[in-house]
Amino acid sequence: MPEGDTIFRAARTLHRALAGQVVSRFETQYAQLARVHDDAPITGRTIEKVEARGKHLLICFSAVGLRPSPFGDPEGSATATPRLVLRTHMLMSGSWHIYRVGEPWQRSPASARIVVGTAAFVAVGFAVPIAEFVRADALEQDRAIGRLGPDVLSPDFDDAAAIARLATSTRPTVAEALLQQQAVAGIGNVYKSELLFLAGVYPFAAPADVSRAQWARLMRDAHTLLRANVVDPAETGVVSYRGLRRTTGHSNPAQRLYVYGRQGRPCRRCGTAIRMRHHGEHNRSTYWCPSCQPEPA
Ligand SMILES: [Zn+2]
Repeated sequence: MPEGDTIFRAARTLHRALAGQVVSRFETQYAQLARVHDDAPITGRTIEKVEARGKHLLICFSAVGLRPSPFGDPEGSATATPRLVLRTHMLMSGSWHIYRVGEPWQRSPASARIVVGTAAFVAVGFAVPIAEFVRADALEQDRAIGRLGPDVLSPDFDDAAAIARLATSTRPTVAEALLQQQAVAGIGNVYKSELLFLAGVYPFAAPADVSRAQWARLMRDAHTLLRANVVDPAETGVVSYRGLRRTTGHSNPAQRLYVYGRQGRPCRRCGTAIRMRHHGEHNRSTYWCPSCQPEPA
């Protein structure tokens, strides 16, 4: 069961504590967020809902100033500020915690980037690396949200939908297709190389040339490995990410990955020297074993 899905769990925990409550406290270390708060205060708004979308956590705030004017004056709504969504993304370091008011925090207040408080609870975004306010009515057009593919960490991740998007990717190589967040959200550069190695897929093959069985293997491993690297103490609703990604099952830092970062070193399976190539639009590095991941004839 979706024990590993921390963003969903975090969103649900925050939703239960905050939904329907009025914001009494809003603090942030991000100037962009503070500016929005200055212009259209978050305090006084009602938290409508908290939800996960891909790996984004969205906190939705009501509009302010929309109370009907007692004079039936349409001017009254001219000063209204729209509903806002706080979009945050945890990457590998960030986490949202929820505390009762007065309860000690489990991480250093110095790493608190965003604090959203109600009468009973305080939600704290620790080391959250990405945060922005988006107008609720523009959310689906938001570049980060609107076109995300199915998220590998989502409990309702749809392998078939993901494979359909990947197999028809217009990216020239399977390595680039795996990083395309519009195809599948959540796979980064380290996992990309590791997943291709585990599936025995040549990284520079065209997406259309990857077999159904290979795509299925890639997606299955993506689930397993990404979830294994997510820690979720269920009781507290605290969400955190382990710093060290590993795919080999070894916790020893020198042994935790198969190919990533191992250029020139012997393959852990066959001893062939691991190769590396920079390629693609962003010149990302890809590591592979030329024996375990042979180029198709
Ligand atoms: Zn090998």
